[in-house]
Amino acid sequence: MMNITKAFGTKAAEAPLKPISIERRNLSPNDVEIEILYCGICHSDLHAARNDWGGSTYPLVPGHEIVGRIKKTGSKVSKFKVGDLAGVGCIVDSCRDCDHCHHGDEQYCENGWTVVFNSPDQKYGGTTYGGFSEAIVVDENYVVKVPDTLDLASAAPILCAGITVYSPLKHWGAGPHKKIGIIGIGGLGHMAIKIAKAMGAEVTVFTTTQSKADDANRLGADHVVLSTDVAQMSNCPKQDMILDTVSAKHDVNAYLNLLKVDGAVVIVGLPNQPLEIGAFNVVNGRKSFSGSNIGGIAETQEVLDFCAEHQVTADIELIQASQINEAFDRLEKGDVKYRFVIDMKTLTA
Ligand code: NAP
Ligand code: ZN
Repeated sequence: MMNITKAFGTKAAEAPLKPISIERRNLSPNDVEIEILYCGICHSDLHAARNDWGGSTYPLVPGHEIVGRIKKTGSKVSKFKVGDLAGVGCIVDSCRDCDHCHHGDEQYCENGWTVVFNSPDQKYGGTTYGGFSEAIVVDENYVVKVPDTLDLASAAPILCAGITVYSPLKHWGAGPHKKIGIIGIGGLGHMAIKIAKAMGAEVTVFTTTQSKADDANRLGADHVVLSTDVAQMSNCPKQDMILDTVSAKHDVNAYLNLLKVDGAVVIVGLPNQPLEIGAFNVVNGRKSFSGSNIGGIAETQEVLDFCAEHQVTADIELIQASQINEAFDRLEKGDVKYRFVIDMKTLTA
């Protein structure tokens, strides 16, 4: 027997999202059922719904920045009790047996991990459905605790945008006396500014949008560069690391040229077209062009605790479920300051 659950999803790449019914599994001993309170809208939800990367299967229910409350617990659950706050990001299962799973890097699981939505469910079969939904069932090992000092709606984006920027910032040593660049002030980029600042780095942000340039200091950036302005780009001091959050094709060579010797441009954005790199731009100065994918479960807990300690949350526009299509259209145009979050009780109201 399965549980019929209300959700918001799409039946084709060209179709708008609509209310649909999905089935959630009954609880296994290690599962928790979470009543979803808030879910952020990430550009990856839009890429997947529109099949930008290929491989989307329909119906598709996006959503991977989930904050909610534990509604039921399986018989062996030990980490949570009914009523606890809980968070779910991208990862809902992995092999638990490879080196990367053992090291808490489930996102690099050698045997393939299960994404919270639009992913074959290796254990239970079928396809996973994400957080644009009233409830979700997840193994407690892939659920994190949400500190109750955080504002819940604006904390939801930490589950993807936050961890996706925190993990590489930490890996590449962002901190005091480091110059860190951030490209793009969207959901990921604005969290990267706040988190890199909280780590103690000197932050320069690169944006194509004048109104966001005007707002960047308020978000915490030390320096702002309008990347379409050639003079501003060439006057920019050299950076230790530049985190690239851009969702569409763009020129990364301009940023490789803004690195110190041994510096790195690290991409987390996932444009659906290949990017070109001139060999001279990395050879000269022993520079790297790297990437990073979200972060593991333990590190997701770590970034939530870090954000609670430093009082970092997203700047959000809270929307009703009926506004999801409008939010997708605006996200496509970069017209959001800086993350849409769905108030999930409006799905069932
Ligand atoms: P977003 O809110 O739409 O932000 C993307 C930003 O990129 C825009 O706000 C804009 O910033 C800039 N941009 C967009 N198109 C551009 C263009 N043609 N040229 C230059 N800049 C452009 O998206 P998001 O939710 O932050 O996600 C960003 C990307 O990261 C997406 O591709 C998403 O799929 C990917 N992602 C990856 C991971 C991972 O684990 N690696 C996790 C989450 C998301 P300005 O207006 O400031 O220029
Ligand atoms: Zn995401």
